[in-house]
Amino acid sequence: MAAAEGNLAAVDHILLVLSGKGGVGKSTITTELALALRNAGKRVGILDIDLCGPSIPRMLNVLNSAVHQCDAGWVPVYVDKDKTMCLMSIGFLLETPDDAVIWRGPKKTALIKQFISDVAWGELDYLIIDTPPGTSDEHISVVECLRQYKPDGALLVTTPQAVSVGDVRRELTFCKKTGLPVVGIIENMSGFVCPNCSECTNVFSSGGGAALAEQSEVPFLGRVPLDPQLSHSLEEGRNFIQAFPKSATFDAINNIVEKI
Ligand code: ADP
Repeated sequence: MAAAEGNLAAVDHILLVLSGKGGVGKSTITTELALALRNAGKRVGILDIDLCGPSIPRMLNVLNSAVHQCDAGWVPVYVDKDKTMCLMSIGFLLETPDDAVIWRGPKKTALIKQFISDVAWGELDYLIIDTPPGTSDEHISVVECLRQYKPDGALLVTTPQAVSVGDVRRELTFCKKTGLPVVGIIENMSGFVCPNCSECTNVFSSGGGAALAEQSEVPFLGRVPLDPQLSHSLEEGRNFIQAFPKSATFDAINNIVEKI
């Protein structure tokens, strides 16, 4: 079989992050897994195709960066001086960060195709793709465009409640129908870590993600607690992985990284 060609040819692993609905922490998990992988010495790229809500430029404190062209296409924005982690997001193509993207399906599909073919990623160990919530045009387009690169598969993010877990069931069906392998399920906001005593309390019903993984016979990759220090870091565009290396949340994220 011929080797894959194009700007993704030198990317070793491609992972898509999916969730049934918004607000469960898909962009957070994408960002923190990428930071943890880079912390472990990997070269990491993030592709943010959440066209209507690109939040990762803010989370990585590169909101006002611009994308440039080179012979091979768009140069992604590097988030560090040693150029081991980079990001491409529609956020960089908007005139102001508050601009709204109100596009119909074909225009979204065209941009996703361009993101897959025209970003000059160079050599990467991991490309993590943050997708919009649900299973829409964007998901079908990205899975089709990536087929020749044989992505490793999907990381499904859910909160522990039954409603969110129900949404993940639909994501599992989507993966099955489109032939996208499921790498595993991540339960986010799983218990609240008290900033004063570090005790973890289950705010929502717990264990839904693990139970769904068992029922569906897909790996359960782990739980990330609801951690105020994590949300503050994301709001301030601070690198949580560097700032809180002794926290339970840091350990939780690293445990997931070891499984992907
Ligand atoms: P999604 O991409 O699924 O819409 P986000 O990643 O944007 O969700 O997260 C929604 C909000 O929840 C953000 O403000 C983020 O900071 C916060 N958040 C997500 N996961 C956690 C967590 N484990 N601990 C604390 N805050 C979190």
